[in-house]
Order: sequence, then C-alpha cells, then structure tokens
Amino acid sequence: MEKRDYYEVLGISKSASDDEIKKAYRTLAKKFHPDVSTEKDAEAKFKEIQEAYEVLSDSEKRSQYDRFGHQANNFGGGQGGFSGFGGGFDNFDFGDIFSAFFGGGQRSSDQGRARPRKGSDIQRRMTVAFEEAIFGKKEKIKVPTYDECSTCHGSGARSASDIHTCSRCKGSGSVIVEQQTLLGRTQTRTTCPNCRGTGKEIVNKCPSCGGEGVVKVNKEVEIKVPEGIETGQQIRLEGFGNKGSFGGPNGDLYIVFEVKPSDIFTREGDDIIITVPISFSQAALGADIEVPTVYGPVLLKVPAGTQPNTKFRIREKGAPNVRTKYKGDEHVIVNIVTPTKLSPEQKHLFEELEKVSGTSDSQNAWGKFKSNFSSKNKR
Ligand SMILES: [Zn+2]
Ligand SMILES: [Zn+2]
Repeated sequence: MEKRDYYEVLGISKSASDDEIKKAYRTLAKKFHPDVSTEKDAEAKFKEIQEAYEVLSDSEKRSQYDRFGHQANNFGGGQGGFSGFGGGFDNFDFGDIFSAFFGGGQRSSDQGRARPRKGSDIQRRMTVAFEEAIFGKKEKIKVPTYDECSTCHGSGARSASDIHTCSRCKGSGSVIVEQQTLLGRTQTRTTCPNCRGTGKEIVNKCPSCGGEGVVKVNKEVEIKVPEGIETGQQIRLEGFGNKGSFGGPNGDLYIVFEVKPSDIFTREGDDIIITVPISFSQAALGADIEVPTVYGPVLLKVPAGTQPNTKFRIREKGAPNVRTKYKGDEHVIVNIVTPTKLSPEQKHLFEELEKVSGTSDSQNAWGKFKSNFSSKNKR
C-alpha cells in the first residue's frame, strides 16, 4: 500500500496551524476509533491518522517531514526511546514506527536527555615572592572544589537499590510540553523536570551529598610555579576544576600569578634593573664594586670618570623567559652619592681638590654652560 501524505490523511493544508491539526485529528480519531467506529478498515485508518498526527503535531518532526517526506525513515535506526504518545490511546503503541522514522532514541535523546557536560573552571590568584617567580617552586594549596561525593560515587543515592527509573519520563530523560506561543500551541520535547534529564529517580538520597552527587571539598593541589613567571600570567591545570555532570569531564583550574615587588630589584620583561650607590671617588677613579644579582653577588668594573646614571649590563643575570628559559640581563644603574656629612679630614681633602680643579672637567662644563646661556640670551 502506498503511504499517503500526512496532510492528506488529516485533510488539512500544508500551512495548517497547530490548532487546525489538532482539530482535524480529534474529529478523525473519533470517527475511526476501532472501539466505536463502524467504518471498514477503521483500525488501519486510525493508525494512519495517529501516525500523521504524531508527526505533524511535533514541530521538529513536522519540519523533517516537510523537507524529506516519508524518506525521513531512511535516516537511521536508533533503537526505541520513543514510548507511547499523548492523546489517551495507550493501547496503540506506535513507538516502533516513530523510532524507525526519526532515529528514535537517538533523536529524542538530543532534545532533553542530559548530555555529558564539562564541569566549570576555577580561577585562583597566587602571590609569589620576587625570587620565587625567578626560580619557580612547588607549593600545595587548598582549592574549594565541587568534587564527586565519595560516599555514593556521584550517584546521589543511599544505595544502588534506591535508584529507580524516573516515573515521569519513564527513563527517557525528556518530556513533551505544550506551550501557547504566538503561532498557536506547540509541543516541544524538553528535559524532564523530575529527574533533570538523568532518567532516574532516587528514593533515598545519599546522606553525605543530599542527592547532588557532588560535595564541596578543600582539594589539595600541588602548584608548580614556572620559572620566570610574571604578574598576570596564568597556568592551567586540566581536570582540576569542578566536577563535570552526567559523565562529562571536570573543569580546569587556572592559577593567576601575582609577583610581589622586590626591595632592590625591578623587573622589566626578562631583564632585571638595579640601582647601586657609588662614591665620588669611585666614580672618578674607577673601582671594582660588588653588585647583587638574584643569583648572588657579581663584580662589576666601574671605569674611571663614570657619570651619574650610567647603565652597565651584566649578561644573563636577569630572569629566565617563562617560555624559552633563556635568561635576560641585569642592568646596573650607578647612583653617585654626594656625601652629606663630612669629617674634618674629608672636608680638608675636598677643599684641596677644589683648589686644583681649575682645569677640571666640571669647571669646563660650567664654563661651557655659562657661555651657552649668555649667547642664547643675546638673541
Ligand atoms: Zn553522595
Ligand atoms: Zn524523568
């Protein structure tokens, strides 16, 4: 027997509203119900009407049918999943027909049944000392995390016998709801509110987690602070976030670092800057001075005649690059300290120095400055 068009079966147009579909169905169902009908082939007709209604009253199935017609049954053979239907004719089970048409369990499970979902991510700040950010370190921290309940292993039930098939959705995890919309009444398949899509009902809940299957724990996590980390940079610990639901993976844990400033070092990218004081005489005469680096003191040769704020570079005494691990440099800025309190002997020596400084660099510099200034003023 050639399959008739569903719209033709119900005697409605392709653009029929949900209300029109329902009305046509009710009229025809009454006429051909096998228990009451005197028409010949009533049972076959009734099945045909039921089938047409089941498809056209479901917006998803209807649009499938509009696009592919009866070819829709070539889409694949999901097993079962569709059990019974609305309308009160439970003695007729068309579940097999519909699952053959629309992939049955496969399709309906996409609309409502709980799918594995990844747990949420957790972000934590971690403050480390300046040197710890250079050398890295390992530290165990406690992170409040939603983890699987160890009493029920995530089932949420007191015991295995407390887990029953959901009475509302019969284990499918989804239910059909009717809604009044601008376009009329529509039916949509949605997550079962009774079991939240799990298809299971729990009689006696697990006392540890209250049936949630998860508990908040202070999870101990070992954090490996990478060498060379800087403020604002983060690492990701995969799977250390909150527990996933319905078999989904855990979220991730992100650690965002904040590096405490150092009293003596400043970091600029992979380079470290330090300012060191030297005396007048060291600057004038030159000296070997000991300069701190994060790796220990290093001797720096300050040449004779060094000017204030001269910058010296000590190679590879900076911070390691967090990715390449190549070390930056340390930049040493010399700060020439003017003495504030002179001993009588020092005072005497400075006075002697001043007497012989008539042709010194500073005198020349002052002279140059004065003549420059006056010539500018003449203009
Ligand atoms: Zn539990
Ligand atoms: Zn349910």
